[in-house]
Amino acid sequence: MRQFVFTPKLGWSVSRYNLFETCKRQYYYNYYAKYDPEHPAKKILALKKMTSIPLEVGNIVHDVNKTLLERLKITAKDIDKARFYDYAEKMTQAYVQAKTFQEIYYGRMTSVGAERVFEKVRISLENFLNSDRLTWLIDFAVHKKDEWLIEPPGYGETRIGGMKAYCKVDFMFPVHDRLFIMDWKTGKPDLKKHRRQMVGYTAWAAYHFEKEPAKISPIVAYLHPDYKEIDITVNSSDIEAFAKQIRKETADMNKFCQDVQKNIPKDKALFTPQKSRLCDYCNFRALCD
Ligand code: SF4
Repeated sequence: MRQFVFTPKLGWSVSRYNLFETCKRQYYYNYYAKYDPEHPAKKILALKKMTSIPLEVGNIVHDVNKTLLERLKITAKDIDKARFYDYAEKMTQAYVQAKTFQEIYYGRMTSVGAERVFEKVRISLENFLNSDRLTWLIDFAVHKKDEWLIEPPGYGETRIGGMKAYCKVDFMFPVHDRLFIMDWKTGKPDLKKHRRQMVGYTAWAAYHFEKEPAKISPIVAYLHPDYKEIDITVNSSDIEAFAKQIRKETADMNKFCQDVQKNIPKDKALFTPQKSRLCDYCNFRALCD
C-alpha cells in the first residue's frame, strides 16, 4: 500500500462526515477535545472511549472474524465449533469487563453481563460459519491467501480525487483477476449509507492497488439476525462523482477550522449542539445536559 507523510490537515471519512452532519457539538468533542475551553480533554476522551452493547457486539465479531480468517490462512481444516465459540465467549467476557458501557454510565441499565452481549455475537458468528460465503472463501480464495488483507493496520489513509481520506476495510482478497472487499455488519441494513462506504473502499483499493473500479467487488455482509449479503457495483463514474462529493464535504468541514492546514477548530460556540432523539445514545450527553 502507498504510504503518506503525516500532515495534520483533516482527512475525510464516512464516520467523520456522518458525525459532522448529525451534531456539530458531538463532532467537536470527537475530534477537537484538546481545544475545548470548558471541559478537560481527559474527561472528553474518557466519554469518547465508552462503548455500548451494539458497538461492542460489532467490535467482538470483527475481532473474532479476524482471528478466524488468520487461522484460515494457516489451515483450511474443519473448525472445532465448540472451541471456536468458547474462544469467542472468553473474548466477550474480557472485553465486557474492560470497558465502560454508556448504558450503565447514563443509568439505562444497572449492569451489562457478558452473556447479554455474547448472545448476538454467537448468532452473528454462527451465521458466518454456516454461510455459503465461508465455503466459497475456502474453495476459491484460500490459494491466494498470501495476498489477503485482514483489517490492515493503520487508519486506511488514502487519496480520493487528490483529497486526503480514510477508508478502513475489514477484509480484501483477490480471486482470479478481481479484488473482493468484505465488510461485516452486525447492525441493521442501511443501503444508502453502506453503499457510500463501499464506494469509498473501492476508491481506496483502486488507488492503492491500481485496479479498475469495475474489477473490484465490494460486498456488505450482514451477520444478524440472518446472514445476508449485498453486492455493490461501482464504476469509474461513481468514483468521480464520489470524489466531487468528498471535495464538497471536506470543504464544509474545513469551514469550521480557523487553520485548515493545522486542523485547528474555530470557536466551540460555532459547533452548535443539535438536540435530537440521538442524544439519548450519545456518549457526550453529560456535557450537554
Ligand atoms: S448530547 Fe446531543 S447535542 Fe450533545 S453532543 Fe450529543 S448529540 Fe450533540
